Amino acid sequence: MRTAPVRPPERGPTFLAIRWQQTEEEGGVVVEASLCRKHRNEIALRYPSAHGCGRLGDSCDICEGRQPKRLSELEPLKPLGDSLT
Ligand SMILES: [Zn+2]
Repeated sequence: MRTAPVRPPERGPTFLAIRWQQTEEEGGVVVEASLCRKHRNEIALRYPSAHGCGRLGDSCDICEGRQPKRLSELEPLKPLGDSLT
């Protein structure tokens, strides 16, 4: 008996919440957006820090023309990269 990898069936667009750190020119802040698969791929290629945060979204922020949420405004986060003390 073969063992099949357990994967959820793929039907329709799936929106997942993704976080990434913007470039220095963009402000270097960590943002979160709910994205479709196509835009997740684009963000993952552009921002190596992109990672899913384990939540589903109900639409794609980029497709709908919304700006990603800046997490520094939503919840206090430790600054990334400046831990030289
Ligand atoms: Zn999209």
